[in-house]
Amino acid sequence: MPVGDSCEFSKVKNVVFMQTKNIAIVGSGLVGSLLAIYLRRRNFKVTVFDRRPDIRQIQFSGRSINLAMSVRGWNALDKVGIGDEIRSLAIPMHKRTMHITGEEAYHQPYGKAGEAIYSISRGVLNRKMITLAENEGVEFKFNEKVWDVDLPSAKIYTGETEKGEWEEYSYDMIFGCDGAFSRVRHKMQRRSRFDYSQDFLDAGYKELGIPPNEDGTYKLDKNSLHIWPRGEFMLIALPNLDGSFTCTLFMPHEGENSFEQLDTEQAILNFWNIHFPDTLSLMPTLLEDFENNPTSALVTIKCYPWTYWNKVALVGDSAHAVVPFYGQGMNAGFEDIFVLNEIIEEFEEGKEDWQDIFERYQESRKPNTDAITELSYRNFMEMSSKTADATFLLRKKIEKHFSNKYPDKWLPLYSRVTFTNKPYAEALHIGNRQAEIMEKVMQLPEIESTWQSAETETFILDLLKNEKG
Ligand SMILES: Cc1cc2nc3c(=O)[nH]c(=O)nc-3n(C[C@H](O)[C@H](O)[C@H](O)COP(=O)(O)OP(=O)(O)OC[C@H]3O[C@@H](n4cnc5c(N)ncnc54)[C@H](O)[C@@H]3O)c2cc1C
Repeated sequence: MPVGDSCEFSKVKNVVFMQTKNIAIVGSGLVGSLLAIYLRRRNFKVTVFDRRPDIRQIQFSGRSINLAMSVRGWNALDKVGIGDEIRSLAIPMHKRTMHITGEEAYHQPYGKAGEAIYSISRGVLNRKMITLAENEGVEFKFNEKVWDVDLPSAKIYTGETEKGEWEEYSYDMIFGCDGAFSRVRHKMQRRSRFDYSQDFLDAGYKELGIPPNEDGTYKLDKNSLHIWPRGEFMLIALPNLDGSFTCTLFMPHEGENSFEQLDTEQAILNFWNIHFPDTLSLMPTLLEDFENNPTSALVTIKCYPWTYWNKVALVGDSAHAVVPFYGQGMNAGFEDIFVLNEIIEEFEEGKEDWQDIFERYQESRKPNTDAITELSYRNFMEMSSKTADATFLLRKKIEKHFSNKYPDKWLPLYSRVTFTNKPYAEALHIGNRQAEIMEKVMQLPEIESTWQSAETETFILDLLKNEKG
């Protein structure tokens, strides 16, 4: 028998269904609001709690962290028919534009012609998703911080302060979509045999801005993700719809060339003059941005299990927070929802076996999110230093040349992660094998001049054949 007020009737497509579950989602971020839409489509009663005020009521410049949306994200949005609405808020980036000091800027296409990752402001996206979820009948409770969760009875406790009075709510199930420092996970952590790890990167990040030209046009190429790679640190810029770019400076917290050292206006200007002189005229608000915007930490979080019996499940960053260097954190969270939904859809409405669903969900997702965690970590090195390295560039050229000629034999790792829905774990595994092959190719004598030759091609084909054997 359903619990509490979950036993309501509603009419969908002229069929009367019994609403069998009353579900709470903790967190109205990107993952929480998309999951809410999916669950409403399944006709559940859904309430979303967030500790923050409604992001749509906050004075908001339209600029915030920019996210790169790729195929996995689009796939999850398209499945519930909201992809096109979100596409209208995003800008395709077909290429990286590399800015090396003393050189002309140059481009590196991300994939094949027509393939792109999409720049979208997290704030703009989040506002839209909340409105779309509300239109589906999702109830949002803002300014309600969840302090505690009773896992066996799916109760949540909210209140203004940890020590003050709390409100108690009862649900049939709870989804923890409350981000990297999840309170729901925190409660699960107290259970025996719950694995948990948290690793902070030595590098942090700060957001800066490039405003539009006076006529509203872009100061840099609009359809690029711009990178100024400088070894231990880098600056990137992603376009916004209003002609501006959101920049992120990634650099170590301490040591040589670190945030710690940029502690005066003069220090910032000196640093910029040496490392990013071409951006000085583009960034009139550099000093203000530096002062006003926090320096934030970058963390990797892994845990397991993600679910508690048939009552509670973690989705998105609460289950797996990754560093942002593959642009996959949100994409992976959206893919969690897509996969979870595929499993739910195997059951007739109202007859879901949630314990089975939760077990299969976590077993299917965990190896894949571990893989994207690893790839994201590795990509910091690739973005900050190797993208400017001649050997790396040659290697990428060879891979691209070979992959264009033999698309069924070689899909570059970046493309497999970004432009397909193939499992992340498979991408990591195949990527490792490709890396071993490329190590051997790069050892070939005079590879700089012979990389397009028939001999090099045959060499790679033989290595691939031998691997299969
Ligand atoms: C610098 C940077 C760049 C990134 N770039 C990309 C990118 O290019 N592509 C990509 O795919 N991903 C990117 N990401 C990752 C992406 O931002 C996250 O993976 C994504 O936002 C996770 O969504 P979420 O809904 O799981 O968590 P969050 O966005 O963290 O949302 C959690 C929500 O829960 C609420 N909440 C937290 N605690 C409580 C509580 N106790 N009670 C009630 N509510 C609570 C919060 O207020 C928040 O609204 C980037 C991340 C960073 C930091």
